[in-house]
Amino acid sequence: MRQSIYFNVFEHKGGFYTKNLVKGPQFGERIISIGGEEYRYWDPYRSKLAASMKKGLKNFPFREGSRILYLGASFGNTVSFISDICRSGKIFAVELSYRPFSSLIELSKKRVNVYPIFDDASYPERYAHFIEGVDIMYQDIAQKNQVDIFLRNIQFYKPSMAFLALKTRAIDTVSDPEDIMKGERRRIGNVLETIRLDPYSIDHYMLVVKP
Ligand code: SAM
Repeated sequence: MRQSIYFNVFEHKGGFYTKNLVKGPQFGERIISIGGEEYRYWDPYRSKLAASMKKGLKNFPFREGSRILYLGASFGNTVSFISDICRSGKIFAVELSYRPFSSLIELSKKRVNVYPIFDDASYPERYAHFIEGVDIMYQDIAQKNQVDIFLRNIQFYKPSMAFLALKTRAIDTVSDPEDIMKGERRRIGNVLETIRLDPYSIDHYMLVVKP
């Protein structure tokens, strides 16, 4: 196991791992124990952030104390890895559906840096009272208006960097995914990186944005 080029992310036999903040697997992932530490395998097929890293992501602003606004947290799989990375930071995890949200609540009982918020990310002002400041925004919401949601939250929270996992099929089911991505990218502006996430996530792109 050795430190990768990404902060607090380790590499072993071509796979990425994070040092477990709490003992035991969170989502049934493989664990390697070395010298009393547990390292959790970060599956790029289950996390678009890990997929972006496998595909050569250059910008990785996550640090020990970063404050993250995570929109579309679902059951908290990717959130749990960011929680391993930003160990003394805060991850404000917004989720709209009840079942995944209850899993986030359970996660936050074990991981003190995870703050679940049950709300619709289309209305950034509604959850502002929970949030103390945002360094990095991360969004993974497969909705037709995903870019509107992204731009609204950027304007409201003014993060220094933002990640958008863009699902082109949610915007338009017939047009070419690359054309859809290019149209949305023009609308966003200031995109530092565009990463196509296949074969890990088909018809998805990761856009890294400097607002
Ligand atoms: N990011 C997660 C991960 O890597 O573990 C997977 C996210 S999943 C693709 C998308 C999630 O966004 C779903 O759980 C869905 O309920 C949630 N979602 C959809 N629309 C939303 C909205 N307007 N506000 C908040 N969450 C939303």
